[in-house]
Amino acid sequence: SSEDREQYDVVVVGGGPGGSTLAALVAMRGHRVLILEKETFPRYQIGESLLPSTIHGVCRMTGVAEKLAAAGFTPKKGGTFRWGANPEPWTFSFSVSPKIAGATSHAYQVERSKFDTILLEHAVEKGAEVRFLASVSDVLEDGERVTGVRYTDAAGTEHEVRATYVVDASGNGSRLHKRVGGTREYSQFFRSLALFGYFEGGKRLPAPNAGNILSVAFESGWFWYIPLTPDLTSVGAVVRRENADRIQGDPERALMALIDECPLIKEHLSDATRVTEGQYGQLRVRKDYSYHQTTFWRPGLVLIGDAACFVDPVFSSGVHLATYSALLAARSISSSLAGIVSEEAAFTEFEARYRREYGVFYEFLMSFYDMHVDEDSYFWSAKKVTHNQHTELESFVELVAGVSSSEFDLDGAESAALRMKSKSAEFVSAIDEMSTDAEGNMTPLFRSSAVRQAMQEGAQVQSRAFLGEDLGPDVPMFPGGLITSDDGMLWQPGPA
Ligand code: FAD
Repeated sequence: SSEDREQYDVVVVGGGPGGSTLAALVAMRGHRVLILEKETFPRYQIGESLLPSTIHGVCRMTGVAEKLAAAGFTPKKGGTFRWGANPEPWTFSFSVSPKIAGATSHAYQVERSKFDTILLEHAVEKGAEVRFLASVSDVLEDGERVTGVRYTDAAGTEHEVRATYVVDASGNGSRLHKRVGGTREYSQFFRSLALFGYFEGGKRLPAPNAGNILSVAFESGWFWYIPLTPDLTSVGAVVRRENADRIQGDPERALMALIDECPLIKEHLSDATRVTEGQYGQLRVRKDYSYHQTTFWRPGLVLIGDAACFVDPVFSSGVHLATYSALLAARSISSSLAGIVSEEAAFTEFEARYRREYGVFYEFLMSFYDMHVDEDSYFWSAKKVTHNQHTELESFVELVAGVSSSEFDLDGAESAALRMKSKSAEFVSAIDEMSTDAEGNMTPLFRSSAVRQAMQEGAQVQSRAFLGEDLGPDVPMFPGGLITSDDGMLWQPGPA
């Protein structure tokens, strides 16, 4: 059919947070983007505890941050842990890091069915197209290059769509990632299974920590306890593989037995009842084995989010890695479509930054599973892994907030750049106002476009000077690598 000769700049497989973030960013650059999603939205997903880097970094760049702020999600100011040698729970707050102090020192606990829908609808608002019940079965190839995908619609009809870039954002369950080449390597260290469900009427930590994630280690593994709404709590037990028999058999009985083993969670749930209807009505089991694909891209195809890699859920890094890798891949796609840098350089930069971030969580988590030490030792490990210049506690908070890379000084360099942009945009529109009279006609002075331009440039120089101190020069993250444009949307060649 004629439909089968469709051509897009980018086809995104999967409308989760990775896919819809990438789609929004690339569509904002004016490219034609199609999202193929095998389910209809809203749909259930696990991964409810988010990080500040997602909310105040990537989601601010796509412009969805305000919608998230208006959606009424539970603010998460940090985490509370009963973990390691310390018998008492200890709490960290995002606000201890100067990088994320003030208005950006929180994230949200979200119902993913709502969160993912907001992100996907936002991508559509930014110009992406979406097709639901469109299940991608394979990629199309022309020699080395991936040139599109094959998908099946709700009626079972097969279609082909061509694209300059295919993005695999299909999560952990699809097989598409194999087509990038290499293999999916599973970690020998992080191999757990999770059994989880939802409760009404669970207790809350005392203020100001009521919105914190509560993570509690016990004999067979650990529990998450995530306050989604004042009444609804997500509760999951993560057990090591050698204890897999603990979650076999009747899931209800298995979960209750695990709760019995863990006094702090049991106490929090003493007045609660399990939800048994709707999207939260069933108990679910998921393997959360950690893995990474040995290569993240080939010409025409790139993997982001869970399709590329996953690391143990204890620090809620899944959605952060999905949205951060979406930002990196969007920069690579947009820069390469614009011919600013070579495809090879653009995707090498994407992969290097993505692996760095994954590696930081991975390495840190190895030390976090040493239960014989206390939190000071975890903070020390975080400083070591990130080569951070700040205190040990700050290093830890920056790592687990997703801001250990230089990309998200949410109140520092990156946001200074963004503030500068918006400041100069304000100046520019002020100039536009000055330059037109009440009827919208150009006033004489501004008829010359050279005068206008000089005013606008002046405005930019002024705002750069105003914020110059925090701005600092952008240096490549890796020797010989690329740097990011002021607005964060593109790569640029590094200094020669
Ligand atoms: P997904 O959210 O999985 O989205 C992929 C989309 O692709 C889906 O909508 C799917 O329907 C679609 N799709 C799949 N195959 C196809 C196909 N062939 N064609 C078309 N569409 C397709 N993360 C956190 O941030 N915080 C947490 O607290 C957290 N807790 C977790 C607990 C457990 C037990 C586990 C296992 C994970 C947890 N995670 C957590 C991780 C989180 O779930 C994922 O990292 C995150 O959802 C990845 O986002 P994504 O966009 O890559 O993929």
